[in-house]
Amino acid sequence: MDSFTKELFKELYSPSHKGPAEMSNTAKAELENLYQKASSEDLTQPILDFFLQMRNCARENGIVPTDLGFSEEQLTALAAKHAQIDEHGVTVGGRLNRALPIASEAGQRTTDYLARKDIEVPSGIQLWETIQQNIHNIQTSLGMTDKDWQSYTGQLKFAIDKVETLAKIINLPDQAVKEVLRVTQSYRMRLTPYYASLIMPEKVNDPVLLQSVPTGEMIDNIGEEIPPVAADHSPARLIDQFYPRVVTIKATNMCAMYCTHCLRIAHIGKKDRIYAKTAYREALDYIRRNPTIRDLLITGGDAFVLPNDMLRWLLSELDAIDHVTVKRLGTRIPVTAPMRIDNELLDIIGASNDMKPVRVVTQINTAQEITPVSREGFRKLAKCTSALLNQAVLMKGINDTQVKMWKLCETIQEAYVRPYYIFNCSYRNPQFAHLRVPVEVGRDIVESMYGNISGDAIPRFIATAGGKIPLHRDNVVSATEKDIILRKPWSGEEVIYPDANQKEYQRQKFAFAKY
Ligand SMILES: *Cc1c(COP(=O)(O)O)cnc(C)c1O
Ligand code: SF4
Repeated sequence: MDSFTKELFKELYSPSHKGPAEMSNTAKAELENLYQKASSEDLTQPILDFFLQMRNCARENGIVPTDLGFSEEQLTALAAKHAQIDEHGVTVGGRLNRALPIASEAGQRTTDYLARKDIEVPSGIQLWETIQQNIHNIQTSLGMTDKDWQSYTGQLKFAIDKVETLAKIINLPDQAVKEVLRVTQSYRMRLTPYYASLIMPEKVNDPVLLQSVPTGEMIDNIGEEIPPVAADHSPARLIDQFYPRVVTIKATNMCAMYCTHCLRIAHIGKKDRIYAKTAYREALDYIRRNPTIRDLLITGGDAFVLPNDMLRWLLSELDAIDHVTVKRLGTRIPVTAPMRIDNELLDIIGASNDMKPVRVVTQINTAQEITPVSREGFRKLAKCTSALLNQAVLMKGINDTQVKMWKLCETIQEAYVRPYYIFNCSYRNPQFAHLRVPVEVGRDIVESMYGNISGDAIPRFIATAGGKIPLHRDNVVSATEKDIILRKPWSGEEVIYPDANQKEYQRQKFAFAKY
């Protein structure tokens, strides 16, 4: 007998107070029944149930097995049977006194999350009824037919880029309308009607609204924009290269929707541009000439904005280069305009994936963005790609709590997408300083996931500062209230990374809550 079972037996024979309490005949009969079941069936559960019941008798009623007519030999035989049946030889004492309490204690770490996740942060799947109502309202208000709604071109044709149109759909206070009008003189706004339908109209700082409708802060935030230095990182037309073996082709500057937190705001969303084919040819030539390059990331803007023919051509050119062995497509369209994922697109991606792996890298920041429609898009994409990865941006009021981020990571995993990165919102653009979250807050959220949600649903937390620096403690050399000194793991170079302003972060009234 192992020590846990010995302990269990000791408890069975140490009644809590003197003299057995009265036990009803039904209770006695029940115990006898349990004993019969435990000895006759080759199952562990009845044995556990019997011992649990016996332990309760000793603890609560001061009744020991002999009081009930069970001999120690009978009990020992039952205990031996448990260890015999169990494939891993786990004893009844081990399971009852050790494993079950451990599992229950671990379960308590998620009790709070389980109680809150569906109430506080429902996914777009859970909100689907409301979203369908929104769709109905938006369609009517914009005069869209079902066919318009279900097609990508319809979504673009009816894209919401005027404040008046937006105000017809969402109930915005007058002051907010004025502010959006003011800010859209400098920054472009464009929501697909589909993405607009994910906004919960009655919620003040709805996380989908915050991501898609610019507020006055974009102009009013103090600070200087530090645009990416093109000359530093662009060794050829359309190409960005930070790393020896991974490069990006910025294949378009267009997106189906423009995000308020766009890191590439300097290039994106001012004016749509169609690039000349020679630009792509020169980019491909650079890749061809550099055999160290193996991983090719087609991004933008949004890779799925490219017409099917263009995407087919680009992928086949890349597949023809021996040293290009894997490809990535960067796109937010599966959550902003999932209608884009048509059979032709899937065939193109599938054919290229059959040659060399294609991964799709997307950006989902809240569980609210996962609807039955986007999930279906991801399901189809999952079948013809080698991986679907998500890069979320950590943003105040959007996904900056443990419950929100756990829910996001679990929901996207259930939608066939693997959480890959969480980016700390960049310091280079004062436009979205009001959405920034201090590094420590983000690190606490990410670290809280270990041991509590599936390992492959846990992303890496990244700062972008001349390359992507994982925000592990190892890479943080020092920190003051304002700045963090980060060490690039690949070169040892130290860089100053301005952290989010704590006061700004704690300010309750921001974005739409101000109006
Ligand atoms: C993000 C990025 C990459 C890819 O980085 P991974 O860590 O491999 O995902 C490559 N090149 C540039 C310029 C990038 O911005
Ligand atoms: S989809 Fe990406 S590139 Fe396009 S606006 Fe949003 S963040 Fe910027």
